[in-house]
Amino acid sequence: MPKPVAQPVYLSTTYHREPDGSYADGYVYSRADNPNRRQLEGELAALEGGEAALAFASGMAAIHALFLSLKTGDHLLLPDDVYYNVRLLLDEVMHDWGLTYTAVDMTDQEAVRAAIRPSTRLIWLETPSNPQLKVTDIRAVVELAMSVGAKVAVDNTWPTPIHQRPFDLGADYVVHSTTKYFGGHSDVLGGCLIVKSVDDSWAKIKRIQHVGGAVPSPLDCYLVSRGLRTLRLRVLTQSASALALARYLEAHEQIERVIYPGLASHPQRAVAASQMENGYGAMLSVLVAGDAARANAVSHRLEHFSVATSLGGVESLVEHRKSVEGPASETPENLLRLSVGVEPVAELIADWEHALAR
Ligand code: PLP
Repeated sequence: MPKPVAQPVYLSTTYHREPDGSYADGYVYSRADNPNRRQLEGELAALEGGEAALAFASGMAAIHALFLSLKTGDHLLLPDDVYYNVRLLLDEVMHDWGLTYTAVDMTDQEAVRAAIRPSTRLIWLETPSNPQLKVTDIRAVVELAMSVGAKVAVDNTWPTPIHQRPFDLGADYVVHSTTKYFGGHSDVLGGCLIVKSVDDSWAKIKRIQHVGGAVPSPLDCYLVSRGLRTLRLRVLTQSASALALARYLEAHEQIERVIYPGLASHPQRAVAASQMENGYGAMLSVLVAGDAARANAVSHRLEHFSVATSLGGVESLVEHRKSVEGPASETPENLLRLSVGVEPVAELIADWEHALAR
């Protein structure tokens, strides 16, 4: 038998059954389990320091599976600037499921305390948040959640475990859109849920994955797993460039404000320093002096930043967030969200210098 260094992609949807009725290594049918997904799930759990992980077809499918494990009447707390599709999931897709939620400013602990109800079962955190990069004190929210026995889930897509380790801070679940930094190359859609300690709720979520079937293909699992091999290299490079670019832009007269947790000017800088490590991530938001039209014009003058949605790939992206989020969005109209890639940082800075020149 050959001994490949890289795992082969097992495209087979079905596996041989032995005369005694058993299946080699437990593989029966690829929706239930397959070698590429099993390998990826093991890597994801190890990476976040959890006991187990489940891979899904997208980040939203992972979030949906977690919400499906809740019951009618359960209450959730969401950040007031939660990734907008999470709200759509609850408001539209799961409307008849009977979950209720309160959107709250997670940086305000008194507001969180006041919003918690006896029926609160899950507190959802995204920190740094999208696109305002608000930083939530995970330890403090975990303590508040414990008062009613609610679980805490952290969407760790933006900081990745290279910068933030939610289980060490007391969280119960970690969620990722693996479409972003884990895949790392803007060519695969995926998501995952990771649990700190396996319990009955986890068994239910695993059943939802298996029976509901919102699973990634073996090739998708392979691509995410391959991305993980360079995660640390990419993220450290991208974060260092983001910090340098944030400092440059903050000093620029054509920029009204830069929001980045690595800057001294960030409102929750101390919290960020206490729970993030190795840097502050590669996402930043920039308020261009002027209106939406000026911000848009600047974004289209950039050459190294593609005007496109998403984040976390090796290529730099820029996006006018308010026009993506729709009229209900509270995002400032002159805000551009940047996903900093792996290009030489001097070129990225020169690109901005050119785009901002009048
Ligand atoms: N969580 C965050 C923070 C995201 O930015 C996204 C997508 O942009 C998602 C979840 C959803 O992931 P996906 O697009 O893979 O469904």
